Amino acid sequence: MAPLVIAHRGASGYLPEHTLPAKALAHGQGADYLEQDVVATRDGELLVFHDLYLDALTDVRERFPGRARPDGRHYCIDFDLAEIRTLGVRERRNPDTGAPRFPGRFPVAAGSFGIVTLEEELAFVQGLNRSTGRVAGLYPEIKEPAWHRQHGIDVGTRLIETLARFGYTRASDPVFVQCFDADELQRLHTELRVPLRLVQLVEAGGKTLDEAALSRLAGTVDALGADLRLLLDGDRGQGLAAAARRAGLQVHAWTVRSDQLPTGFTRLGALLDALYRDLRVDGIFTDFPDQVRAYCDRLP
Ligand code: CA
Repeated sequence: MAPLVIAHRGASGYLPEHTLPAKALAHGQGADYLEQDVVATRDGELLVFHDLYLDALTDVRERFPGRARPDGRHYCIDFDLAEIRTLGVRERRNPDTGAPRFPGRFPVAAGSFGIVTLEEELAFVQGLNRSTGRVAGLYPEIKEPAWHRQHGIDVGTRLIETLARFGYTRASDPVFVQCFDADELQRLHTELRVPLRLVQLVEAGGKTLDEAALSRLAGTVDALGADLRLLLDGDRGQGLAAAARRAGLQVHAWTVRSDQLPTGFTRLGALLDALYRDLRVDGIFTDFPDQVRAYCDRLP
């Protein structure tokens, strides 16, 4: 079966990440799932935003001088939603030098974009699902649940409640909830009895996952969301993908970027062949959903 095309922060290769235009484009490009990173504001609203702080993606420094923490960063959780709404969003850049993170992408100074709440995004995606007649699923990530809890906000519970309000309550609904924090996933599964499919994210340099660990994991989650660098690490990567499959886990790989291919690859097609034909992944996170969609549509 062709892998799922998961739009990483929307069609973020073409438009500023996590803006509604980036989600609309990804939907139109045929993504199967649209990703939402989820963080909280001071007044407990959930935002679709990747970073805990606002500096790399907004004009917060110009608008709210004096509101940074000692590390120089302006944290989402130190601002109310009404304040966040006044910010402009732009293409990701180094907050200290102003240099764009991906120089060939959407110009940093162009366009007019804002931060979106989780509720706004869910309503938007459901609207597109209805108007186009094609359903794109949701792929929310609970960002730093322990850190948020220290700040008095239970992001995981609020996310699940919000999804339920929008009708996502069953394992058969088109949702994957992802998190790096294994304790949080365990809590969702055991204490909160969340029926939605769960994904354990793993990055390169973390603990090695042997057969026993993967089979324990399969008691809690449905898929492993694995860093490309782990999967492309020769025999070890092959072994991880195969062992995950044997444990009954899907494997979703992140993140395919045609403007930043991993070491050893000069063509997108070769990378996608490695993921699909060699590693048999079930899902691919990408900043360029149209390109991965085109590859998948050519598969027999
Ligand atoms: Ca993410």
